[in-house]
Amino acid sequence: MSTAGHSQQFAPPVTDDGRTELIGLDRAELEAFAASLGEPAFRARQLWHWIYHRGVTDFDAMTSLAKSFRAKLAERAAVGRPTVAIDRQSIDGTRKWLLRFLDGQEVESVHIPEEDRGTLCVSSQVGCTLTCKFCHTGTQRLVRNLGPAEIVGQVMMTRDALGEWPSPPDGRLLSNIVMMGMGEPLYNFDNVAKALKIVMDGEGISISKRRITLSTAGVVPAIERCGRELGVNLAISLHAVNDELRDHLVPINRKYPIAELMRACRDYPGLSNARRITFEYVMLKDVNDSPAEARALVALLKDVPAKVNLIPFNPWPGAPFERSTDAAIRKFSNIVFEAGYSSPVRTPRGEDIMAACGQLKSESVRAAKARAPKPADGAAA
Ligand code: SAH
Repeated sequence: MSTAGHSQQFAPPVTDDGRTELIGLDRAELEAFAASLGEPAFRARQLWHWIYHRGVTDFDAMTSLAKSFRAKLAERAAVGRPTVAIDRQSIDGTRKWLLRFLDGQEVESVHIPEEDRGTLCVSSQVGCTLTCKFCHTGTQRLVRNLGPAEIVGQVMMTRDALGEWPSPPDGRLLSNIVMMGMGEPLYNFDNVAKALKIVMDGEGISISKRRITLSTAGVVPAIERCGRELGVNLAISLHAVNDELRDHLVPINRKYPIAELMRACRDYPGLSNARRITFEYVMLKDVNDSPAEARALVALLKDVPAKVNLIPFNPWPGAPFERSTDAAIRKFSNIVFEAGYSSPVRTPRGEDIMAACGQLKSESVRAAKARAPKPADGAAA
């Protein structure tokens, strides 16, 4: 199946009362929209500044625009945000939002604050098609791709919540973005690319490609395009070092096996020792966490500028795995480290609010499941 088969281009969303949502339009589309209201192209640049640099949602506050233009905009256009359905904060400061879009579909976004920066984990799809065995989102079927407005909207809503308008030049609480929320971003590449180009634009939200990481389970044909077109950092959800186990844990491996995936990694545009691919490896007790597997991982990474990120398994209700012991994780990490690769263990964040890696699933789906009759054998999800 081609990656294009998974992508759907979206017409700009339209509000209930028929106004066009401007978020998610690229510069050319915004110019065309301004022209459709009888305005010169440079007005689009002013609009861009108000929308993406200042975070203004009310046309009346866009004081550098003529009153007549503002009135036309109010009639025909909207600058919206996803609706915050749930807003929860972990004891460690991690914050998770359940966001609702115009058609009622929902995703989660997670903000992970650190001392001198903060990372937003952004979703790319409602649900996911990949069915990775250890991932909670994988138990929710794919409902649809997110459009550019819905992807950019997650970032803008977070800026609102953190009070970070106008776009601060430094000291940001939202300094980094990881495309590691719900969904497989490379199965929705066109919309993700359009959204990230808006997010990276230096006259707007202005988060640089060096601070954006896209994580994929290995959609090999889209990897090169991601590097060439976006130049963002790449993370690979590897999780197993042989095809037999990876076929089971990460079923997309049956389509794009490890050798092909590693070839795409070696060819990723712009790699150097300063710009490495991150290999994510979930630590599953007695499944993939042996010293022999750590050594096999090192062998696989030969010739790839790489770093390894070990993720202790985060449990969810009914999950058929356990987290590796601390001793096993330490041993695994040491083997990788001694072979010359950085191999930090990712500290679980936001576990108390089910915001940690692999725990995301629309609360609405969770609630519906809880109401549904349980299967006779008691197996969850
Ligand atoms: N589909 C993309 C984006 C999701 S990223 C991808 O697979 O890369 C989410 C990351 O969390 C992935 O590395 C995923 O494998 C990992 N993950 C999923 N479930 C997990 C769990 N229960 N515990 C720890 N990490 C998990």
